[in-house]
Order: sequence, then structure tokens, then C-alpha cells
Amino acid sequence: MNTDFIKWIEHAGFLLEINGKNVYIDPFRIRGELPKADIVFITHSHFDHMNEEALAKVTTDKTRFVAPKETAGKLQGRKVMEVEPGKSYEIEGIPFSTVPAYNVSKEFHPKANGWVGYVIDVNGTKVYHPGDTDATEEMKNVKADVFMFPVGGHYTMDLNDAIKIASVVHAQVFVPMHYRALLGVEGAKKAEEELRKKVKNTLVLEQIQEPYYTLQ
Ligand SMILES: [Zn+2]
Repeated sequence: MNTDFIKWIEHAGFLLEINGKNVYIDPFRIRGELPKADIVFITHSHFDHMNEEALAKVTTDKTRFVAPKETAGKLQGRKVMEVEPGKSYEIEGIPFSTVPAYNVSKEFHPKANGWVGYVIDVNGTKVYHPGDTDATEEMKNVKADVFMFPVGGHYTMDLNDAIKIASVVHAQVFVPMHYRALLGVEGAKKAEEELRKKVKNTLVLEQIQEPYYTLQ
């Protein structure tokens, strides 16, 4: 399938080109010139997902934001569409739905925070960006063509969880994210190899900028 419209920036940050619009998800550590955002989807308010420095680089006063309630509260003065987990919406003609994003047995991302992942419908191709989450029951029911998942562990699900999820859901491609800064150069390489071995339709997207390998 053609995934050229999806650019991996860094960590959990992506830029999608949808019908001539620049749509960002969790932009972080922007270096160089990237196009100004028409829409920014934010999964939650942790610094590596809602990052003011990155937002200052890619947004204008016309940029529209999509964010869960808790995060929307921190985006004062911007045009924000507030969303809840498990619902369907549309913004500028782009349909999308939200999936709860949370930890099952850790405290970093409590379910009660109402944080989300997004399934964005790009002219019939569904792209799922799960945010920071463990492998949840809700995730198993997501229908997506491009199924992204965090594989870094610690704050989120890890590689083994991702491999398990990939065996129970159907997607055209599985895209790992949120791991290079957590696993380091060697660890990241190993994780990519392992994933390619065990999930045949793994797609490690080329980052459009050199990756950082530390989370500072
Ligand atoms: Zn987080």
C-alpha cells in the first residue's frame, strides 16, 4: 500500500498529508523547515507529545487542534476541538475516531485521564496512532490499515505486546514508534529486526530527520 502521505518526524510525531492539508500528530523535536500545520492531533499532555517548542515551530494562529479534555485545557488561546475516548468525529472533512489510551498496570497514563489514540480516515485508508498506551482490549478491536504502535516499553506497551497485538488484529502494515529514544541505537536496531522477523508486514518508516536517541 502507498504510505507516502505519512512522514515520521521523531518519536511519536508524524506528519500526514491529507487532501492538501498538513496534519500533525504529536509533533516533537522539530528540526529544519516543516510545513505549517492545518491541524494538529494531540494524544495527551506529556512533554514528548504536547510540546510547546515543537508547536511554536509548526503552528500558526489558524491551526486547529484536536485534543482530549485534560490536554485541551493546556492549549488555551488556540482553536481546539475537545474529544473523548471511544467516539467518532470529523474535522475539515476528515473523519476520525478516538480510542482510549492508558496503562493497564502502571501509573503513567491512568485511564481516568481520558487520553486517546486516533484512527484517522485518509480517503478510506485508516491510520491508527494509539498514543501512549499498553495493549488494551479496546486496541484489539481497532480496525486500521496502518496500525502504529509504541514498542519502547516502560511508559507503554513493549515489543512483545506489539507482536501479540499484530497477531490478533488485521492491518496492511504495522508501524513501530516511540522506541528509539527509549532503547538507544543498538536496542532500537534489535527491536526492528525482531519485529520484522515476527510480524511480516512490519513497516519501519524512514524518519524525515535524524533520530535522537535520548529522551531529554
Ligand atoms: Zn505519555
